[in-house]
Amino acid sequence: SPSVHFAASAAAGARVIVVPYPLQGHITPLMQLSKLMASQGLSVSFVTSRYCISKITSSKQSFSAHQIFPGIDLVGIDDGYGGSEDHDLMINPEKFLESLELLHLSFVKLLDRTVGEEGIRIACIISDSFLPWTQDVANQWSIPRICFWPNSLSVFSCSMSIPSLAVSSPALNPFNARVYETSNGEFVTSIPGIPEIRACMLPFHTLGGERSEAWMRHQIETQIQQINEYKAIIFNASPCLEPEVHACMKELLPSDKVFYTLGPLVPSSILSSESDDQGTGSSMFDEDEACVEWLDTQSPHSVLYISLGSLITFYDEAELQEFTSGLLDSKQPFLWVFRPSALLPTPRMECSFGKIIEWAPQLRVLAHNAVGGFLTHCGWNSTLESLLMGVPVLGWPQMLDQTTNCWFLTEKLKVGLRLESMQSKKVDHKSLENSIRRLMVGEEAKLFRARANEVRDMAKEACTQSSLSSVLESLVSTIVSLNH
Ligand code: UDP
Repeated sequence: SPSVHFAASAAAGARVIVVPYPLQGHITPLMQLSKLMASQGLSVSFVTSRYCISKITSSKQSFSAHQIFPGIDLVGIDDGYGGSEDHDLMINPEKFLESLELLHLSFVKLLDRTVGEEGIRIACIISDSFLPWTQDVANQWSIPRICFWPNSLSVFSCSMSIPSLAVSSPALNPFNARVYETSNGEFVTSIPGIPEIRACMLPFHTLGGERSEAWMRHQIETQIQQINEYKAIIFNASPCLEPEVHACMKELLPSDKVFYTLGPLVPSSILSSESDDQGTGSSMFDEDEACVEWLDTQSPHSVLYISLGSLITFYDEAELQEFTSGLLDSKQPFLWVFRPSALLPTPRMECSFGKIIEWAPQLRVLAHNAVGGFLTHCGWNSTLESLLMGVPVLGWPQMLDQTTNCWFLTEKLKVGLRLESMQSKKVDHKSLENSIRRLMVGEEAKLFRARANEVRDMAKEACTQSSLSSVLESLVSTIVSLNH
């Protein structure tokens, strides 16, 4: 079982502590980053809740830490979840936020013991921008912290602009949902690298009422305030995909701040047709492999893959019902990931052309020739994965950065369309049916596919180009120099 101590480092390499926000969409890219760093000889301690570690390891058939994560120690610390309870941000947000506090305390204890008592040397802490307390702990031990930004460069630019936007045009302040609802169709033109974007596509419109607005505002403000304390920032993003914002990064960051664009952080095996290992190695859920066999029986580009990621669920039974009837009326074959939840029953449908599963091997599904479209909530990982696989999207963003990612996919890159009526979150069955048809069949669908293929080639170039390895080398040499 995973150790709560750091294993003795066999390699003479510098030791890095990596701390993801304890959710799938953050664990996946940071695990990939950890693998890249370990491949360069660094010793990586991947520190997260014991709960997450047990989910990662128990969803593997036969777990052996070294087979799945060579060069990486998995370090599980306590966050108050026993393991059997339902660890779901959407079901019990209070409990989730409480668990983050406990994770913080456990992290303090871990460093007291390892760095304080055992004298283990840590070159730096690489931690998620959503965990501001890792900065405080790093400061306390005088360990440099490199911040990991899990979202796009566009979302970074918006985040940096929102406080000034809130002052200059209060009606366009997405934190203030009441005022903002009335003006969300207006264009915002003051965001570096983004010539214009409708206010409703700005990030951080939380849809979650006053408490989550306050939480999100606090998150953004802290992230911005802390920028001066970061040693550097790593982005899961690529200049090839967001050249305009990339060109503005110097203007957005303090002049002494180094940044690294290492995205898309997806398993490198998906880029090679010779490899059949397309898993991330850090999935917290059991992947339904049988769905790939089902895809094998379907015609090319005929299946709509539906997934709202690891968190988002339907608002209520009425919304689920509306969605289900639009989907069935479209008559389009579908593969639908519906995560079992205490909130809503899994739909039961007598349908010969669709399949509902609990968790997909998403990369293998998107890579499958039978898949012709992706109905997505536009989480940043799903966004990058759809681009890399050249799958056109029907975006149904709900909150946080998802609206901006949807803007990026549909308005900027034009690889699909957005499902209308997202503001109220209520989907209308007729517009869902029409949108699915537009995405999957006819002339417009062909254009989306051609465009998605073009963007795929650009995205693959971003992953394989030699500049990426020089960014990695530069990061590694910075870390090694911090060790001295
Ligand atoms: N994912 C998966 N199987 C599924 C649904 C999602 O493997 O059935 C993966 C997906 O490939 C992505 C991650 O879960 O890497 C979800 O991250 P994203 O940023 O898209 O959304 P979040 O879950 O953070 O909202």
